[in-house]
Amino acid sequence: MDDTDREWYRRTLGLTRGWTVTDVQHLLVPLEVQVFVEYVGDLSCPVCGSPGRKYDFRRRSWQDLDHGSSRCIVYARVPRIECGACGVREMDVPWGGRFTRLSLRLEGRIFRDVQTGTLKDVADRHRVHEHTVRKILVAYSDLMMRELDSPGSGASGSTRPRPGKDTTTSPTR
Ligand SMILES: [Zn+2]
Repeated sequence: MDDTDREWYRRTLGLTRGWTVTDVQHLLVPLEVQVFVEYVGDLSCPVCGSPGRKYDFRRRSWQDLDHGSSRCIVYARVPRIECGACGVREMDVPWGGRFTRLSLRLEGRIFRDVQTGTLKDVADRHRVHEHTVRKILVAYSDLMMRELDSPGSGASGSTRPRPGKDTTTSPTR
């Protein structure tokens, strides 16, 4: 894989500064793209932003939007940061879904699609379980209702759900 391939996948995944693509594997049976990602940026506490030190890392994976007719899986070593004030915290990943092990944009696509399709159709289309579609529908609907109920507080600049911002236990997601 050359630098252009690496950069292509970095952009298509929407990786932010600090995250880099280390490898891409193309499987033929089944058709699947596997993108391997690592964090090489500054280590700051994901809660308070203070400089921290690397504690260890967790291997995690996310299903992303298909590339053509191929599934795409992102694998990452996600650092856990040790902060003097907050303890050991896992770093947020910019592409990670908020409620599932799917990417944030796949969660968003499923939530849009399920407005006009059945759970089964949407699950089949995106190769996920129906209960995952149901979970996204319930969680995103609840999120929207809470934002409607508390205008001014929930909006705060961004309507895009951010992964891990309101949880401190992402390892068990
Ligand atoms: Zn901290």
